[in-house]
Amino acid sequence: MSTITVRFAPSPTGYLHIGNARTALLNWLFARKAGGRFILRLDDTDQERSTAEFAAAIAGDLAWLGIVPAGTERQSDHIARYQEAAARLRSQGRLYACYESPDELERRRKRQLARGQPPIYDRAALALTDDEKAALEAEGRTPHWRFKLAHGTVAWTDLVRGASQVDTASLSDPVLVRADGTFLYTLPSVVDDLAMGVTHVIRGEDHVTNTAVQIEIIAALGGTPPAFGHHNLLTTMSGEGLSKRLGHLSLRGLRENGVEPMAVASLAVLVGSAEAVRPVASMAELADLVDLAHISRAPAKFDEAELTHLNARLLHEMPYEAARERLLRAGIDGEGFWLAVRGNLERFADVESWWRIVHGPAQDMTVAAAADAAFWVAARECLPPAPWDGSTWKTWTDAVKARTGAKGRALFMPLRQALTGLDHGPELAALLPLIGRERTLERLPR
Ligand code: GLU
Repeated sequence: MSTITVRFAPSPTGYLHIGNARTALLNWLFARKAGGRFILRLDDTDQERSTAEFAAAIAGDLAWLGIVPAGTERQSDHIARYQEAAARLRSQGRLYACYESPDELERRRKRQLARGQPPIYDRAALALTDDEKAALEAEGRTPHWRFKLAHGTVAWTDLVRGASQVDTASLSDPVLVRADGTFLYTLPSVVDDLAMGVTHVIRGEDHVTNTAVQIEIIAALGGTPPAFGHHNLLTTMSGEGLSKRLGHLSLRGLRENGVEPMAVASLAVLVGSAEAVRPVASMAELADLVDLAHISRAPAKFDEAELTHLNARLLHEMPYEAARERLLRAGIDGEGFWLAVRGNLERFADVESWWRIVHGPAQDMTVAAAADAAFWVAARECLPPAPWDGSTWKTWTDAVKARTGAKGRALFMPLRQALTGLDHGPELAALLPLIGRERTLERLPR
């Protein structure tokens, strides 16, 4: 058995979005579970739109998600092998020269549609004689090259969709090589999949038709097709497809907004699967939850609000060990602090404002809640002596209550506001010992 090998093959023409993350993660988790290899393949044959910046951004975004490819390949490094494959197809009569201009093709398409015929390329170029071709070339036309489909049923057992088939007679012969000699995606992809020993191609449903074409090309090249799996696509809430142009859904944008990578991964993988969407703390756990065979066939809707919610839940459950290094980098120390505030975080960076609230100088804590001077005198005088612990808050507030008769909101709100400047936040029982006696005294109004 050859090593299970998958690849994630974005074109470096934009930033990855959450839909691309779904494809990357399904590949990554599949490989992880099978003890296989995950390769990043940059489909950069479109030299005009591909940039080194986007390529670097893709690698960076994958790393942020926790995906570490076993290797990176660039299609621009392998042009010779595509040319070789094209030559083989030509010699078999499976790749033929076409001379129609885009305008001519468009007019033909419209005519077919007007007659109620499917707009399939009519293979007119196949009938050209050598003399006719020479005449067209003398006119200054350069050919583009189409693959001659076998016009039969191509069947495969899809890892997601089960028994699948496409009748290639219903398709136009695809253009594999442009007039300027550059390759469209279809041929390089299969040539690389064969060269890289890819065993499983896991990609979006938008590639189902390509798969039928590619299985025919693989057969023509004498190769063995990999297994294919086509997952459902993510759409916006209104059902539109995600596009690299929608920058706010880019992984970059989400990361800048403080979204945790595992929140992105949890949503990108679990939405539209058989599992309930929930925050999953590690790739290992997520790998156990995905099963390609149980991914829904319907498009899955990506809800940004759901992501925000998942992100918060992930932080609320995050153990100190998982947060420790990042806290230290922010100059924050202490498990007690983390456990006290994590339940109030929407984003990790919110820890900083809680840290300032606990440790910072007495700000202008505006005490809006009604409390009279006698209340504050009682609050000071009842303040228990150090050392403080988790029970100090109750000891203190019981005493203030006994002395002033204040209870419920009238008791707690003035104290919370005086101590934190806010009317909401973590449990004061946990926060009070962190603030400490000295700072508490400073913060109580006189
Ligand atoms: N570059 C192609 C894309 O981004 C790859 C598709 C594939 O996985 O074969 O759509």
